[in-house]
Order: sequence, then C-alpha cells, then structure tokens
Amino acid sequence: MKKTVTIIGAGLSGLVAATELLKAGHQVVMLDQEPKQAMGGQAFWSFGGLFLVNSGLQRKFRVKDSYELALNDWLGTARFDRLEDEDVWAKKWAEAYIHFACFEKEKYLKSMGIKFAPVLGWAERGGSNAEGHGNSVPRFHITWGTGPGLIEPFVSYCLAHQDFRFLPRHQVTDITIDHHQIKAIIGNILEPSDVERGAPSSRTVIDTFNMDVETLIITTGGIGANHELIKQNWPGRLGKAPEHMIQGVPDSTDGRMLKVSEDAGVRLVNKDRMWHYTEGIRNHTPIWNNHGIRIIPGPSSLWFDAEGNRFTAPDYPGFDTLHTLESICKTGYDYSWFVLTEDIMKKEFVLSGSEQNPDLTGKDYKQILKERLSSHATGPVEKFRTDGADFVEADNLEELISKMNQLAGDDLLDYEKIKKQVELRDLQVDNPFSKDPQITFINGARHFLGDKLIRTAKPHKFLDGRKLIAVKLHIISRKTLGGIQTDLNSQVFSKDEQLIEGLYAAGEVAGFGGGGVHGYGALEGTFLGGCIFSGLRAARGICGK
Ligand SMILES: Cc1cc2nc3c(=O)[nH]c(=O)nc-3n(C[C@H](O)[C@H](O)[C@H](O)COP(=O)(O)OP(=O)(O)OC[C@H]3O[C@@H](n4cnc5c(N)ncnc54)[C@H](O)[C@@H]3O)c2cc1C
Repeated sequence: MKKTVTIIGAGLSGLVAATELLKAGHQVVMLDQEPKQAMGGQAFWSFGGLFLVNSGLQRKFRVKDSYELALNDWLGTARFDRLEDEDVWAKKWAEAYIHFACFEKEKYLKSMGIKFAPVLGWAERGGSNAEGHGNSVPRFHITWGTGPGLIEPFVSYCLAHQDFRFLPRHQVTDITIDHHQIKAIIGNILEPSDVERGAPSSRTVIDTFNMDVETLIITTGGIGANHELIKQNWPGRLGKAPEHMIQGVPDSTDGRMLKVSEDAGVRLVNKDRMWHYTEGIRNHTPIWNNHGIRIIPGPSSLWFDAEGNRFTAPDYPGFDTLHTLESICKTGYDYSWFVLTEDIMKKEFVLSGSEQNPDLTGKDYKQILKERLSSHATGPVEKFRTDGADFVEADNLEELISKMNQLAGDDLLDYEKIKKQVELRDLQVDNPFSKDPQITFINGARHFLGDKLIRTAKPHKFLDGRKLIAVKLHIISRKTLGGIQTDLNSQVFSKDEQLIEGLYAAGEVAGFGGGGVHGYGALEGTFLGGCIFSGLRAARGICGK
C-alpha cells in the first residue's frame, strides 16, 4: 500500500530514507528549517570520508581487512558497558553496521553512482593495545567529489521525483504521540531566506503549522552547534568542559529536536557520549558562527599542552581523538599546540571540509596531482598559514616560543623546557631503532604506500636550522554519539521502552542508529556511513523489508 511518509530534516540520513521510500513507490513530504539551498545538511560540508571494510580500494593498496578485524576494532573503540540498558540496541547496531560496511555499502554506493577518490586514509590509528581503540588498517575512503559528491545523487533523485514534496523553512517545535502512536507535528514557518548555504538564516516566524502524520522519520542531526547543551551533557570522565570551543558544524545543528522528542515521550540514551576534535583552527573566512576547521593531521607534528609538556602515547596526531581530548581537558586549559617543520606541514596537513579541498571536491585529477604531490602544502593550507589567526612561524625555536606566548597572551611556555624535549626527540631520529613511540609509529606508517606517498613525512630533525611552525589548536565541536533509541528498523522506543507506532529516527539524532552505535568512540568515516545505513534501515522498516 502506498504510504505518505513525513521526514523532518534534509540531511544525508533523511535524503537516503526519502530516496529509498520513493524507489519503493511511497510518497515523501520532507521539512527543514533551513532554505532549499541548504539541502544536504552537514554532509555537504563534509570531507566525504567513508568507513568501508575489505573494499576494492583497500585490496588495490594491498590492505588486508576483514569483518572479524573490523568488528574487533569497533568493539575495542566502542567499549559498550551499558548492555542491560542504554547499549542494548547500540551493540546490535554495531554488529549490523560492520556487516553493512563489509558486504553491502560499496555496492549500494555504486548503485547510486558514487565513487571514491584514488587515495586511502588511515584515521584513528589507536596507539594503545590491540584490544583498545583504533583502526588496525587504513579504512578511510574519500568520496569522489567529497561531501557534495555524496549528497548530489540523493538530492537529485528526490527533487526529480513527482512523489517528493519539500517544505523549506518549516521548523518543528512539537510532536504528538498518543498511546504509542505518532499523530502530528507542530511548528513554525520561518520567513524566506536567501543566505548562502551554511550561513545562519533568520529565525523570524511568519506563520505556524500543524500536520497530522501517520509515518514520521526524525533526521534532524546532533547538538554540535549548541554549546550550552554540549556543556550540560559533558561527561566528567573527559575532564572539565572546555570554556571556549570553536564550532565545527552549521548553526542549524541545534539539537532542538532531541528535547522536543524527549518531551513527547521518546527515549533518549547515552547523552553523555560525544565526539569533538582537538585540532581546530579558527576559520579566516567564516561561513557560520564561530566557524572552525579541523586539521586532519599526519603523525609527525609534536603535540604540546598549554604549558609546554609534550603529550605521550596514544596522544599523537591522528591516533586517538577522545583520549587526546581527555588529556587536554585535564590540563585545565582548552587549547594545545602543534610544533612542526615546513616539510611536515607540506606532506601531512589536510583540512576537513569540502570547501577546503577544491581539487577533490571539483573531481579535478590534474589539480589533485598538482596539490598533493607538489613540494608545497595545498592552497587552502597555505592560506591558513598566511591568513589564519592560529599560525606562527620562525627561523629558530626560541623565536617560535616567544611568538607562541604572544599569541596565547601569556608566558606559559618556557623555551629551555621545550628545547630539551625537542632535542631528545631529535636524538631518536638518528637510527632505525627508537624508544620514542611516535617515531616508531611514523616508521610503521611509512610501510603503507598511501602514507609514504602523501601523508607521512620522512622522519627528520626539527632543530637542524629548518623553519619551524606552531599552530594553536582549539577544541572544535562536531558529533553527537548518543540520541534517540531505535531498534534495527530505526523504529523509535518510548520512555517506557515500547516501540512507537509510525515513528522512526535515523542519522545523528539517533546516535547514528540504536541511540549510540559508536559507544564511547569512533573509527572515523562512520558518521556519513551511519547516516546511510540508518536511513536505509528506516526506509526498509517502513516498507516491511
Ligand atoms: C565539516 C564537516 C566534516 C565532516 N566530515 C565527515 C567525514 O569525512 N566523514 C563522516 O563520516 N562524517 C563527517 N562529518 C559528519 C557528518 O557530515 C554528519 O554527522 C552527518 O552529515 C549528519 O547528517 P544527518 O542527516 O544526521 O543530520 P544533518 O546533516 O545535521 O541534517 C539535519 C537537518 O535537520 C534540520 N533540522 C534540525 N532541527 C530541525 C527542526 N526542529 N525542524 C526542521 N528541521 C530541522 C537541519 O536544518 C538540517 O538540515 C562531517 C561534518 C562536518 C560539519
């Protein structure tokens, strides 16, 4: 029977669900508080990184991966410890998601015309024991065309379909559930807006609406732009919540629908689990409020806390995001420092975000070769080096430390103390053996061709007369790991743990499935993939497949 399905949120998870429902012959009404030009939500801005297991690209790079290895990595990272309660569906989702990433995801993406860039990244390398956090092998696949390349097939499919209706500037403020059945949605109609995609749009209300619904999917994203909510839910285990964070997501990622859903009787779980990066820099050309960009670093920069103490394993660039976040927050400061050489910047600095990678986003092979294999950093990295507020450089370490103190506005960094740590590190570069785990990791990384070619600089000394660079790193908000609890069909549970008839949730608002498929931590590229998987599951659940 043909159904009319209402979807709140035009991000990737909503678009995937809509596409699959339309393919199955149903009608879709999609609402979003933002204007039409913002369709695609956060995914448009993303790097398009996708977690896949045993893919064609991995095999091309001679990376041996398997379902068992990936599941082990996931469980070591997730550390599910609420199995009787909040994690009961999350763990089932994790197992199903690894199965999807290993056996179905690549085929599905191909069926939508989505391809990968010919590079393979190694995110979240771990750095602790085998049973702990991290990817044992490189699994980070970059969508050809980055975020825009990922959303385009879904946006085009929906907009071209006669059974698709899009209602922009519709902001949902209430949902009605009666006797475990979804009944209606209520909200504001906001004034039209022609702001550029991603920029904050007006919140002036020109009317209200009240719609009866039989089947509803909530796909409204997380809380990354709501710093009050982040602080409120901040887990004590990560230390003190940062006083100041920069914002890694557009303002529309306001988390409002989580409270709206909870107030209507929906069960939220794992609110204290979240994923913020530690390598944020202030954008020289901001699009949204307090706009930050994340550096996706290679492994060689030296990482110091605000008082100039070098971090130890596993707090190396690109190894264990949440452990490093905890280490930084426990210092009592909300920032840290990279110290590096020009050679490291050229080879290892990649910026997250579609607009920061115009070669990959524009699918321009010539430009990719020029940007990634040349002796310079990419154009966008060079731009931050000259125009970014967080970069300083000098011809020697003493001058660099003085500039770092100036930038921080205090005198916390002591030249002699930092010099000693860098000298001792340099001493370890002289031979192929090393007791410094970061250098051992770098040597290991260079066994992987992808790293050797474009991601890991040849180990070298810092204090041999080279130009030195320092970057002040802010905590940058991004993802919500907990959320609405759902079963494997993305159907929503009520506070009294019963399924609600007609109500589904997918993407970040549902903790990417089950209310927390990632547990405490993530392997990267799993968020966009989680939107695809949970969006698909919602559509299949509604279709009864
Ligand atoms: C810069 C950047 C880089 C990233 N890179 C990666 C990456 O490489 N790999 C990866 O896996 N992930 C990445 N991510 C994360 C990923 O993009 C997001 O987690 C994902 O796109 C979230 O999609 P979603 O469908 O759940 O929600 P969203 O994309 O947040 O969409 C939600 C939509 O709901 C609308 N909405 C919210 N509340 C209401 C309401 N009350 N009424 C009506 N509409 C509402 C919003 O306006 C929005 O359009 C990145 C994110 C960013 C910002």
